[in-house]
Amino acid sequence: MYRLEYVEKVGRFYHKSRAGFTFGSTLHQALQTFHEDGGSAAVSAPELVAKLETVWQSQGYESAEHEAEHKVEAVRILETYHAASEARAEATKPFLIEKMLKWDMGLFVLTGRIDRIDEHSADGALEIVDYKSGRRSVSEEDVKSALAMSVYQLLTKRSNPDRRVYATIHALRGGVTASASYTEEEMAALEDELRGMGTLILETDFEAIQPIPLPEECPYCDFLPLCTRAWKREGRDYAAELILTAD
Ligand code: SF4
Repeated sequence: MYRLEYVEKVGRFYHKSRAGFTFGSTLHQALQTFHEDGGSAAVSAPELVAKLETVWQSQGYESAEHEAEHKVEAVRILETYHAASEARAEATKPFLIEKMLKWDMGLFVLTGRIDRIDEHSADGALEIVDYKSGRRSVSEEDVKSALAMSVYQLLTKRSNPDRRVYATIHALRGGVTASASYTEEEMAALEDELRGMGTLILETDFEAIQPIPLPEECPYCDFLPLCTRAWKREGRDYAAELILTAD
């Protein structure tokens, strides 16, 4: 997958549009403009809902009804989000919105696109907020174990070493959040792990890697038609291999 995505760069020919991705992208855009325009102090709940129409995308939905159901859900999510945003407006202000953070690790540059970071007025703490449009619930453990959230914390901490940094996942469908933070020791261990992972990627000859049927991954992978052709050329019974390996 890495070879096809990043070395051969053929993803644009194979990636399918999906309702979940479109829905998430639409909500992210609506929330980005909401915060860029001043948040709940400047934008009312009806105005936030009206923004949805200007950023709405239709690709990936199975039917007009399917799309309409998602639009109703999006309106509900944005109204709930606006109320939550109003409740925390006094204690926080946006520090950055939809930004790519980078940190030079020597052999490579670690990057991460962050939905939003809020600054807490009480102690200057930086809270990284990540929107999850498909989730109804989230726990502290979910945040703690999410690789992306730990990378965001590392990126934020390294560029703001004097600040307390923690991460929050906002489960938009449920209107709930959970937060967790990494200790300095955990950050150092993560840094080591990422350095090892980055070095492995840099040193691997991806051109020489052949696709091998993976029962957990392949059925959901957009590149399956491409890999299937390669397996057919090799005379492999890939369907049986996927099922056999799954057992
Ligand atoms: S179909 Fe399977 S082997 Fe091919 S890129 Fe996807 S996950 Fe990898």
